Amino acid sequence: MGGRLFKSESRFYEQLWKYKLAKLISFDIDGTLEVGEPPGIITMDMVREAQKAGYLIGSCSDRTISGQQRLWEEHGILVEFTVLKHNLGEVAAQFEADEYVHIGDTDLDLRVSQSAGFRFIPVEEAPSLVWGINGKS
Ligand SMILES: [Mg+2]
Repeated sequence: MGGRLFKSESRFYEQLWKYKLAKLISFDIDGTLEVGEPPGIITMDMVREAQKAGYLIGSCSDRTISGQQRLWEEHGILVEFTVLKHNLGEVAAQFEADEYVHIGDTDLDLRVSQSAGFRFIPVEEAPSLVWGINGKS
């Protein structure tokens, strides 16, 4: 995994942005996205920004596939993938990327990330690590 080249997580993400490595982010929904239940701290604008920056994005959630697709459609975001939690590994198999990241809020997110070969980012750390937004608001 590319991340080992860098001394710290934040340094790693600086490089990720700078060199525009192919990168993929999987978003958990509930407790992670602002439109989740409960709402999380990742706004749909942040998702759009990541997509604009070149990330391949999609969701990995306990919600049904059709429920996930409907949610993205409602917000006018065209995602690359929608999978159930235990199928995160399929995303890694389907898309070529230098780095695979999953953002979520529970231990289950951590576990599925580890078994699928994704870097897990706890949702509370994502604004600073992925978007370079410092401090809590
Ligand atoms: Mg969640």
